[in-house]
Amino acid sequence: MSEHGVAKDQALIDLVEVRKIYQRGNEEVHALSGLDLRLERGEYVAIMGPSGSGKSTLMNIVGCLDTPTSGIYRLDGVDVSDMNANNLADVRNRQIGFVFQTFNLLARSTALHNVELPLLYGGTRRRLRRERAEDALTRCGLADRMDHRPNELSGGQRQRVAIARALANSPSLLLADEPTGNLDSRTGDEIMALFDALHAEGNTVILVTHEESVAQHANRLVRIRDGVVATDERI
Ligand code: ADP
Ligand code: MG
Repeated sequence: MSEHGVAKDQALIDLVEVRKIYQRGNEEVHALSGLDLRLERGEYVAIMGPSGSGKSTLMNIVGCLDTPTSGIYRLDGVDVSDMNANNLADVRNRQIGFVFQTFNLLARSTALHNVELPLLYGGTRRRLRRERAEDALTRCGLADRMDHRPNELSGGQRQRVAIARALANSPSLLLADEPTGNLDSRTGDEIMALFDALHAEGNTVILVTHEESVAQHANRLVRIRDGVVATDERI
């Protein structure tokens, strides 16, 4: 046990009997129905499953954007299932990098400013912020595009800005919800090559995809059906 009372050999992610119920009018939607999943540090995991099976709900909970209705989620040994919004935001800032299908960049801001923003929220001082943002953009192959706005960049370059933003605060966990969903297949291949490289550097990567060819980049494939894990295999 460490000084914080946390075992060192524990899973990075430990989801136990996680349920998420959304209220839609008078109707309850069971997005997750008692899902169990354990992931170790350094894994490269693809999540697949039919539309509506709960993949995004799972990613939002894993990424501390949302909390389960019931069940336990331990991230790095810390129970985050009942954390309030402030504490969740704090965990997110320190540990999570999130990449979305639609990039979610600020349209009026340069690539550099988009990447600096989460560091600003995290309280990183200006010079270090600039340094880390430039570093992350360079790792993502955008050293010569830092002053460009999203509309001056291709889809693949926009997604690389979003990946740089996710990497800027050195997260322990990189999450991507259908990161190649809005890209043509060649550009998607480039983005997957970048995830492969980030995994090879030691990052833990979890990505949701509809495409078997994208999933094949991972070392583990988890299929979700009706809000639970249907299959879980090494690939
Ligand atoms: P997937 O990403 O696998 O397509 P989601 O996790 O987005 O699935 O959704 C799982 C189920 O939960 C779906 O039935 C969806 O309509 C429902 N759902 C997702 N988010 C909400 C929400 N904010 N409010 C109500 N229902 C939701
Ligand atoms: Mg989804």
